[in-house]
Amino acid sequence: EQQSQTFIRSPIVVVLGHVDAGKTTLLDKIRGTAVAKREPGTMTQHIGASFLPWKALESICGDLLNRIKAEIIIPGFLVIDTPGHEAFSNLRKRGGSIADIAILVVDVQRGLEQQTFEAIDILRERKVPFVVAVNKIDRIPGWKSFPDKPFIESFQKQEPSVQFRLEEFLSYIIQQFNSLGFRADRYDRVRDFTKVLALVPLSALTGEGVPDLMLVLAGLAQRYLKKRLETKISSGRGVLLELKEEVGLGTTATLILYDGVIKRGDLVVTGGLNGPIVTRVRSLLMPKPLDEMRSPEDKFQEVKEVVAAAGVKLVAEGLEEAIAGAPLYVVTNESEIEKFSKLVEEEIKGVKFEKDVVGVVVKADTLGTLEALIGFLKKNNIPIRVADIGPVARRDLVHALMVKEKDPLYAAILAFNVKILPEAKEEAAMNGIPIFWGNIMYRLVEDFQAWHQAQRE
Ligand code: GDP
Ligand code: MG
Repeated sequence: EQQSQTFIRSPIVVVLGHVDAGKTTLLDKIRGTAVAKREPGTMTQHIGASFLPWKALESICGDLLNRIKAEIIIPGFLVIDTPGHEAFSNLRKRGGSIADIAILVVDVQRGLEQQTFEAIDILRERKVPFVVAVNKIDRIPGWKSFPDKPFIESFQKQEPSVQFRLEEFLSYIIQQFNSLGFRADRYDRVRDFTKVLALVPLSALTGEGVPDLMLVLAGLAQRYLKKRLETKISSGRGVLLELKEEVGLGTTATLILYDGVIKRGDLVVTGGLNGPIVTRVRSLLMPKPLDEMRSPEDKFQEVKEVVAAAGVKLVAEGLEEAIAGAPLYVVTNESEIEKFSKLVEEEIKGVKFEKDVVGVVVKADTLGTLEALIGFLKKNNIPIRVADIGPVARRDLVHALMVKEKDPLYAAILAFNVKILPEAKEEAAMNGIPIFWGNIMYRLVEDFQAWHQAQRE
């Protein structure tokens, strides 16, 4: 029988930003700080994510907490371990994202860069609110570091000339945001976080400013996401973040559950390369606590059920066909199988397509990256004939050759993070069809555009 009590789940947090802005360092710092506190209820590792319970946040934020007047109702944060566009793209759901909040990391001295703009585009498109971590303040000449202290404390202790330098960098970043149509300000000067982007100056390396970041995140979640975070103990919903081969288990999925509950033995529907997959949960695995591991292979422990928000390893038959970025629904009543299969199918068909138009062929590794790439190409007015998941195959060349007869400038293949099968490579070389390969979206699109432009001249 279904219980129907509602509760507030943890918000799902993702980290985005330009390469080298400090995403990994920041994630490590957030987790490390929590672990180092060694207090009851500190961080717990999930699969693909880390859970920071409110207790851990309290010890990170300290006195700063008095600044949020409301009572804290979120249990903590579920922070996705992999930063960057790709993980974010796969946390998709129709018309939006299952990520509740994003941290956009910007290098204080460099401001917004190419992938920052790209990230802002995706966040906007998927309507995900974000906070800006203005990172590496410790690199500002003359900065004195106060490890793990709140930014507002550390800032007050800096020389006026150093404070001034920081303010200059911040106003440049604020201007950059303004030119994109955002209002933005240093977080402690923001009154309405729904109207003004909050910039939190910090150092992922020394930890100063990290408490402020956590506080702003908590405040945002608490005040503006409450409705969205309400969930029921009912059938689970999630998304496949990643697929992974595990010795002895076959293909397994990292499932990010954003609503309800999933149990061992549950019937689930998810998306596959050849249509919806209906399968039964064989087991649900979570990381084994370090002190219980007997060998490096002894990584997982079985759990009977998992409640949102959570990251869990799903073991089930048929996952070798599954697509990362596909939704997953728990079926509580067999009569729902058809309904959910249709939902999954429609969702995948909404991304993959084949049209009889003169345009490029796009192949990507996951549903999320394909969707993001289609978005970029559309923005750049590049027509698409085929958008599909999987390696570049001979079939794709057939499409490109048809396009070549009508307009050779679009007879090209854009491959994002997928293999190019040997026979496809051969056929492409023989027919002079370029295959652009990449794992950074804007570069892939730029490479194509450069070629397109050169051909035209
Ligand atoms: P990512 O590519 O965004 O994940 O960036 P990383 O976290 O790998 O950081 C890139 C480089 O910047 C590394 O050498 C980090 O040690 C350095 N870095 C990151 N954050 C900071 C910071 O706050 N201060 C300083 N001085 N260096 C940092
Ligand atoms: Mg990194």
